[in-house]
Amino acid sequence: MNQYLEFAKRLEACLPQEKILIDEPMKNHTNFKLGGPADIMVLPSSQSELECILSQARQEDIPCFIIGNGSNLVVRDGGIRGLVIKLEQLNQIRVEGDCIIADSGAELKKLSDLALTHHLSGLEFACGIPGTLGGAVFMNAGAYDGEMSHVLESVTIVTPQGEKQVLTRDELELGYRTSRVKTRGDIVIQARMKLTPGSYDSIQARIADLTKKREDKQPLEYPSAGSTFKRPVGHYAGKLIQDAGLKGYEHNGAAVSDKHSGFIINKNNATAQDVLELIAFVQKTVRDLYEIQLDPEVLIVGEDLKQN
Ligand SMILES: Cc1cc2nc3c(=O)[nH]c(=O)nc-3n(C[C@H](O)[C@H](O)[C@H](O)COP(=O)(O)OP(=O)(O)OC[C@H]3O[C@@H](n4cnc5c(N)ncnc54)[C@H](O)[C@@H]3O)c2cc1C
Repeated sequence: MNQYLEFAKRLEACLPQEKILIDEPMKNHTNFKLGGPADIMVLPSSQSELECILSQARQEDIPCFIIGNGSNLVVRDGGIRGLVIKLEQLNQIRVEGDCIIADSGAELKKLSDLALTHHLSGLEFACGIPGTLGGAVFMNAGAYDGEMSHVLESVTIVTPQGEKQVLTRDELELGYRTSRVKTRGDIVIQARMKLTPGSYDSIQARIADLTKKREDKQPLEYPSAGSTFKRPVGHYAGKLIQDAGLKGYEHNGAAVSDKHSGFIINKNNATAQDVLELIAFVQKTVRDLYEIQLDPEVLIVGEDLKQN
C-alpha cells in the first residue's frame, strides 16, 4: 500500500494533478529500461513549482530523489520510496553573448546543438551524452577530453536545508565524476556555461567526429547507463574486463557488451537484479585476476524487491 497518497493530494497545491504520478514504473524513466515503481513522481515545469514541491516535502520530511533523464541510473526492482522529482520539463535555455544559461532539465544534446548554432565552442564533448544539465553537473560528466568543469561558470542550487545559492565553478568541488552536488545532496536549478567563439565548420566537424567514434565503439542500440565502471587509475575498465574473458558474457537478460566490454547492457528484459549480479561477478573476476577494484560509475538506487 502506497503510504504517500495523502501527500500526493497535497502536492496538487504546487502543480497540476496530471503531473503527479502514483506508483510510476522507473523502467519508463531510465535509459537502462529497468527499475520498480516510484511511490510518487512529479514533473515540475517551472522553478516555482519545484520550490513549492521541495518546501512541502521538507515540511513533511518526505524523502526526495531527483532525476534528469535517468541515463546514469540502475534503479533496483523494488523501486524508490517517497518522492521522485523528474526535472526534464524544467528546460529553458538562453544565450547571452558567449554564455549559455540553462535550466537543469535541458538536454546536453540540445545545449551542444545550440552552441554550434551560435558558433560557440566548448560543448562538443557533450553532444552524445544522453543526460540533462543537472545530471551532468552532479557527475561532472565528460568525454573525449572535455568535461563540465571546463565550461561551467556558475550554478544555482538549492541546498538540502532549502537555501538557494549561486556557486562559482571553484565552489562546486568538481572532480572525476563528482561534485559537491553529489557529495552534499544539493539540487541543481540552473547553470551558466562560458564558451569560446569558434568557427561553425570546425565545431560541426568535431561533433561529427565524436558522434562517429561513439557509434563505432558503443552499444547504443541497447539500453544501458553508459560506462558501467569508473576508470581505475592507470587502467581502462573495458580492457580489464575483455582481458578477463568476459566480453559478451551474459547473465539472464543482462550482458557485457560484445562491442565495448566497459558497458553492461540490458540485452533481453533484464531486471535490476540481473544487472547488479553481473556487476558483482565482473568486479570479482577482475579483482581475483588482477587485484584491481572496479567501482561503479552508474548510480545504484532504490530498494530490492521484497520477497513474500
Ligand atoms: C549511451 C550512454 C553514453 C554515456 N556517455 C557518457 C559520457 O561520455 N560521459 C559521461 O560523463 N556520462 C555518460 N553517460 C552517463 C550519463 O548520461 C551522464 O552521467 C549524464 O550526465 C546523466 O544525466 P541525467 O540527467 O540522465 O542524470 P540521471 O541519470 O537522471 O541522474 C544521475 C544522478 O544525478 C542526479 N541529478 C540529476 N539531475 C539533478 C539535479 N538537477 N540536481 C541534483 N542532482 C541531479 C540524480 O539524483 C542522480 O543521482 C552515458 C550514458 C549512456 C546511457
